[in-house]
Amino acid sequence: MAKSVIVVRSVIESVLNHARFVHPKEGILLLKGRVKKDRVLVDEIEVPPLAVHSRNFANFPLHMLPIDFSIVGTAHSHPSGVLRPSIGDLNNFFGMIMIIAAYPYISERQMAVFDRDGRTLGYEIADREEDKQAKYQRNQTSRDTGS
Ligand SMILES: [Zn+2]
Repeated sequence: MAKSVIVVRSVIESVLNHARFVHPKEGILLLKGRVKKDRVLVDEIEVPPLAVHSRNFANFPLHMLPIDFSIVGTAHSHPSGVLRPSIGDLNNFFGMIMIIAAYPYISERQMAVFDRDGRTLGYEIADREEDKQAKYQRNQTSRDTGS
């Protein structure tokens, strides 16, 4: 069960941009990242390998996706503006988390993260993972030189 979710800012922006771009159709993206115990990090999105813009999430053939263990969940848009998963969404749940972006997709306030029971999960927005790693490495280096 996912307890702590971290989403990098570029993923938030990509999900919102994609939702705006395909509106009024429903857009679907795959969320990639890492799972460590009950912690989920989302740092990349992937466009599903099928033409999906005319479909809705509930009809999306998730079983046709390649087996890729870096996929931690899915994101899709709700052109209706409803910011909660439908029964169909929950029946199609894939991975650890589901992000929904609701019309008008202005900011992360129109986005929410859900678990497979449809409960809202709190999430943190982080800088890009590369930036965090660079910062981490800098800290390590300065610690090394300091000792
Ligand atoms: Zn939905």
